[in-house]
Amino acid sequence: MFRDVAVILDERFRNLVIPTARLEKLAEGCRWAEGPAYFPAGRYLVWSDVPNDRMMRYDETSNAVSVFRAPSGYSNGNTVDRQGRLMTCEHGNRRVTRTEHDGSITVIASHYQGKRLNSPNDVVVRSDGSIWFTDPAYGIDSDYEGHKAQSEMGGCHVYRVDPQSGDIAVVADDFVRPNGIAFSPNEKRLYVADTGATHVVDGPRHIRAFDLTDSGSLTGGGVFATCTDGLFDGFRLDEAGRIWASAGDGVHCYDPGGTLLGKVLVPEIVANVVFGGVKRNRLYICATTSLYAIMLPVNGARTF
Ligand code: MG
Repeated sequence: MFRDVAVILDERFRNLVIPTARLEKLAEGCRWAEGPAYFPAGRYLVWSDVPNDRMMRYDETSNAVSVFRAPSGYSNGNTVDRQGRLMTCEHGNRRVTRTEHDGSITVIASHYQGKRLNSPNDVVVRSDGSIWFTDPAYGIDSDYEGHKAQSEMGGCHVYRVDPQSGDIAVVADDFVRPNGIAFSPNEKRLYVADTGATHVVDGPRHIRAFDLTDSGSLTGGGVFATCTDGLFDGFRLDEAGRIWASAGDGVHCYDPGGTLLGKVLVPEIVANVVFGGVKRNRLYICATTSLYAIMLPVNGARTF
């Protein structure tokens, strides 16, 4: 049971995987698959193939795989906002955008205090309409995932875009390389990954947890979990507040207290995940060259 599919590290994980479920490979041929976003109204998934400067689309009804957008501005993280619109982090254009219902693209954030962002990496939208994103420098480090450039910002921060004014504020400035970002189901907690170990010896390879005040600022920020294999990049939460996080050997599942419950094993380094399917019980997994999925007995947190 569970052979080759899951590793159970805590008995509670036995109920979080389906013994007969198998990891399905849905697409291949990417260089670095990232940023999955699921659109329930159309039953399709969009994701980024960052070095190939394109976004891909997987149709859940036909299993068809096609190019969604190319060039994509070296897109990375994607999400769906509260109105069902695609939100995209673009390394190459160094901005966060929203694709409107008519297909036009609106720039949400490109500068802070007159300086260009580094290369936005991942984004999430809260139910109050605020947009939260991370801005490490992976898209300007070289020409591989964007365009090589010096950082104007001089740091890698976490930002919040106000839903009314559109103003951009730094909400955390003590990260080495902020990366994946997601809220708890009640939106009172914000989790942010730091992949600073890519640039700093013994640097961070963890997820931090912040509490939100009523005014929307962050408190806390202690380490929630440290990755035991590779790095945490993107992650999503299920309805019970468990975190399903990307890692070197697959997807690691943590309970809300920070205990590693188990793993879904994946044969490539995982960059990001998202819950999809009409019941949000199919975990889509972007892993290096491929897109995978696995059915789970749990449902993703409702995010819109
Ligand atoms: Mg990322």
